[in-house]
Amino acid sequence: MKKGDQAYIKELNRKTIIETILRHRNISRAQLSKSTGLNKATITSQVNQLLEEELIIETKLDKSTGGRKPILLTLKKDVGYALGIEIDIHHIYFLITNLCGEIIEKEVVSFDTTSYNKTKNFLIEKMQKYQKHYSNSLYGLVGAGIGIHGLIDNQDKIVFVIHSNWKNKDLKKDLEQVFEFPIFMDNNTNFCAYGEKTFYIPTSNILCLTISTGIGLGIIMNDKIYKGFHGFAGEIGHMIIHRDGRACTCGNFGCWEQYASERAFLLQLAKKKGKTQYKIEEVVRGIEQKDSETLSALNEWAKDLSIGINNIINTFNPEIIIINSHIIPVYPLLMTEIKKYLISSMNDYQYLQYSKLGQKACVLGASGIVIKNFLRISNVYLGPQ
Ligand SMILES: [Zn+2]
Repeated sequence: MKKGDQAYIKELNRKTIIETILRHRNISRAQLSKSTGLNKATITSQVNQLLEEELIIETKLDKSTGGRKPILLTLKKDVGYALGIEIDIHHIYFLITNLCGEIIEKEVVSFDTTSYNKTKNFLIEKMQKYQKHYSNSLYGLVGAGIGIHGLIDNQDKIVFVIHSNWKNKDLKKDLEQVFEFPIFMDNNTNFCAYGEKTFYIPTSNILCLTISTGIGLGIIMNDKIYKGFHGFAGEIGHMIIHRDGRACTCGNFGCWEQYASERAFLLQLAKKKGKTQYKIEEVVRGIEQKDSETLSALNEWAKDLSIGINNIINTFNPEIIIINSHIIPVYPLLMTEIKKYLISSMNDYQYLQYSKLGQKACVLGASGIVIKNFLRISNVYLGPQ
């Protein structure tokens, strides 16, 4: 066997072993050999290497069914840390997890500037603070994943962010000039989908619909984020559902997000109420007080949402669709309403639910990508948290 082939197989075995340890949380060498199909000699050599790298530890079970106490292998969670960041319209969300995905700390900072340089400098300052704080651990901060509410191309460059009007910014490169650890950039919706897959449902195929000021679709196929030709796949909010409909920021008319985003819903409810704007807190109050205008607006919204979801189901025939929204968790009945309108005989899906990770989904997904990269594995499941 060639030397290159040997190295490749060794790396594959290492990956299989780490993924199996992660999946079982605790596993004996014998079980590991059985689960992976690798022989005892390979297991011994790989496990010794991982023990040397301090990525795993051995623990003895207190109770045994008799005979020797089994020694179990577990991932050592506190030798390195992952940083997940989401740059939203009015705030930046920071989250630190250990290598097992346990949340160590989170911080949400109000941040209203649209200046690229100010944002970049603020990120550098914060990231340096976290880097210093975790520098006492063996591997320290092992990477950062940054979710952006905008278009990110296949080279991880920011093409356009509508709320701040950033165009063609290479934030990844700018940060890599300061930090030695790897930086991952993606659209927030893609990271949300990865968060659901990593921390909520262990699956290889999942769709995640994010509904806020706009609508995006994170698509994961065969464990990978599907990004399309240039990286812009999943801009589902700009699917046209009405000819000559409402004007959209993209230049078209009748886009789905002009009817079914939370922003559109709040605008419609404000109109009903004779106001110029309406806040989510007011919707919550309306729901609590069983306000008829609020409840009928929610029903109309469910209809508009179901039109797009029907189209997504017919395009993908998905196993799992997760909807990430601020409003649905406070009014879960909306899911029942939506499902009521999915009446086509072609509407085949397994599971349609709102996100239990909620506003943490993006930063958890970003952190999951960092952990996966650090451990050199292709599949990681760390949930539920
Ligand atoms: Zn549009």
